[in-house]
Amino acid sequence: MPRVHLINPSTQSFGVAVITPRWLYVLASATGARWGNPRIVDETLEHVDLETIDPGDVVGIGIHTGNARRGYEIGREVRKRRAWVVFGGIHATLFPDEAAFHGAAHSVVRCDGDVIWPEVVHDCLAGLPRAIYEGGRIGGDQFASARWDLLPQGRYMWASVQTVRGCPKHCSFCSVWRSDGQEPRQRGVDRVVREIVDLRRLGFRFIALADDNFYPVTFSDLAQAKRRADGSRLRELEVLRAERFALMTRLAELPDDLVFYTQITMEAAEDPAFLDAMRRANIRGALVGVESVTADGLKDVYKGFNLAGEELVTRLRVFRRHGIHVLGSFIFGLPSDTKDSFDATVALAERAELTFAQFVLLTPFPGTVDFDKWAADENRRGMLVEGVPITQHWLIPEGRRPRLYTAHPTMSLEEIRLGTQRAWDRFYSWRHVWARSRVVESIRARIAFVLISKLYRHIYANTGIATDSARVQRSARCARWIGHACRRLFLGKPMPDLAIPGEQLEPAVN
Ligand code: SF4
Repeated sequence: MPRVHLINPSTQSFGVAVITPRWLYVLASATGARWGNPRIVDETLEHVDLETIDPGDVVGIGIHTGNARRGYEIGREVRKRRAWVVFGGIHATLFPDEAAFHGAAHSVVRCDGDVIWPEVVHDCLAGLPRAIYEGGRIGGDQFASARWDLLPQGRYMWASVQTVRGCPKHCSFCSVWRSDGQEPRQRGVDRVVREIVDLRRLGFRFIALADDNFYPVTFSDLAQAKRRADGSRLRELEVLRAERFALMTRLAELPDDLVFYTQITMEAAEDPAFLDAMRRANIRGALVGVESVTADGLKDVYKGFNLAGEELVTRLRVFRRHGIHVLGSFIFGLPSDTKDSFDATVALAERAELTFAQFVLLTPFPGTVDFDKWAADENRRGMLVEGVPITQHWLIPEGRRPRLYTAHPTMSLEEIRLGTQRAWDRFYSWRHVWARSRVVESIRARIAFVLISKLYRHIYANTGIATDSARVQRSARCARWIGHACRRLFLGKPMPDLAIPGEQLEPAVN
């Protein structure tokens, strides 16, 4: 019988990984039982063995811009084996023709795959796949739950569960609001809790709430809606907000060794009731897009709702006062950045008591406003790197890609690259990491904190900024070693008999 394969492409394999790629297990669930269990390959663990793919099998490959090139390589190999090649994910949604041309796709699924996937598999196996399947933006009640029973044991430190898709903001460097939409689509509380219980039964204690924005309704959204003559928008927002609180109340009833982590905007710091509910729900950490520490930098990225300077420090500290650890995300290479921006940013991150930080280079990713402007610039027409148009930079072989894509008004590209490297090195130096590890109490927890900080730095820092391939390889080796040492620290004793607290009886899905 033909089989279904689901592949998450990656050029680097670490043997263990920090977070489960959720989409693999969601599509496995959407596949249903008719064609047997799909074979799942996450290449961040190990590379796909093409010998396992037979003629007539269906191979789903999910890509974002960062792994598109590797995905296309796999697609071409799979097609040579006379299996059906289907691409999905944000990058294939944006460029279905590219997936057909470079990845040898028979079909491309655009937008959400949860509902349409069984139809795609059915059509392939009937020998009649369509070139494009429009998955659309499905409602929160249609999001498929993941097949966690298919997870390989002991390979991931964090599991991932989604509670909401979509983000009402419109940051210029981000594609989320354009791909997932600006209207938050929240998932039913019972389904979220049921999945988390499944994961805790398996021994997962650390769970990332893989949401676009966990705080989709701010005080200023409510105030704006109140000013409208028609009260319907206000009521909608109040319902969304109430659902968030209902979810957090249920999370608080789960075993208290669970630790959740999510992504929110800085405006949540104005909302102590929300932060307290997060704390009670054991949502102990959040990625906050700080982006820039200056008002000019925030203007560069259309993020006027963030604060800058000392007000920013005060606001970020509010999270810590409420027991929420912040991973602050910063962008370097903005037009307003100067040579002083790197050290000033790290100093602010430390003053603001951030627990983790990431420093990324401004990159025009497709699907964003920045990319549209950048690609439309006449100077870029016809510009080739290694024979590839620069406006398709993700197709350039990895080692030869430019590190930065836009000339800076005052700094050389090398100055920006070195400044960014320095920021990572300083924030994650042993001394600073050990000092920050005081946020947890036991020695075991402090060791876990140090290891995860170092792991984070090795996985995420050098991949984007190093020009020295020896440094990248060294980082990958360190990440592999630390990953193996760390993973046990994150897992708990399985609780196979854990009950689902306070479940309103709702029929099980998937
Ligand atoms: S960067 Fe964050 S806040 Fe801005 S649009 Fe993207 S998800 Fe929303």
